[in-house]
Amino acid sequence: MSGNALGIHALVWVGGWGPDECEYAVASSAALGFDIIEIPAFEPTQMDVVATRASLARHGLAPTISLGLTHASDINCEDAERIERGRDTLMAALDFARAIGSDYVGGVIFGALARYAQPTTERARLNSAAVIRELGQEAAKDGITIGLEFVNRYESNLLNTAQQTLDYLDIVGEDNVLVHADTYHMNIEETDFSTPILACGDRLGYVHIGESHRGYLGSGTIDFPEFFGALRDIDYAGPVTFESFSSAVVDRHLSNTLAIWRNLWSDGADLAEQARDYIRSGLAG
Ligand code: MN
Repeated sequence: MSGNALGIHALVWVGGWGPDECEYAVASSAALGFDIIEIPAFEPTQMDVVATRASLARHGLAPTISLGLTHASDINCEDAERIERGRDTLMAALDFARAIGSDYVGGVIFGALARYAQPTTERARLNSAAVIRELGQEAAKDGITIGLEFVNRYESNLLNTAQQTLDYLDIVGEDNVLVHADTYHMNIEETDFSTPILACGDRLGYVHIGESHRGYLGSGTIDFPEFFGALRDIDYAGPVTFESFSSAVVDRHLSNTLAIWRNLWSDGADLAEQARDYIRSGLAG
């Protein structure tokens, strides 16, 4: 068995994060043997720190947190006001991570998690990298890793591939700011599932495992053997987190943004158990 911590996205269980939802999601994840629950924190100042800490402690699970910015809080732009709003959101996410003991903040934090109507500009890219550099420096004080999740063209105009992310990381220049790779997005934008991972090497910090349609693993078109083989080739030791979405569980921030219109599953526990075994077996080779 591999040494990678196995994570699961909270949206497999719940669409919100009230105390009952939090307890149910954490308990269900722990019961199936996951090590990590990834908590979406799109409004980081609104999160219930006390309930989250209590559930995590009760069930012995570690948290990671993820979020995406919006057009109104975009740091990938040339508008100082929006950049400041985005910076505030990211710093609040970092505060939430510290408060619940998460050593990871990732997602589409380099810009809006949204479709853009035009390409980015070099100035917007540099503005984004400057905020991420500052976030990385703040995070480093508490040993927190920052992950940049490159996503498909309909969800960002800035980082769509691993190579773009590596180039951007060269501008950021902070050792604790790393690449977050997601098979669902790679499937749309990359040439294959190994070249980008080999290019990342030790700059890969976090992995999302998602099927081509975001449903049951192995029932889509993604070449998981190639992907897991690449992770083994680079001796990837970081978290591997299962991410799946269905119209059966709706999050007001994520579901519409990610175009989750279809019901690809209705039983989160069955889905999660299958994913756990699929990922463990894939990592083991
Ligand atoms: Mn993802």
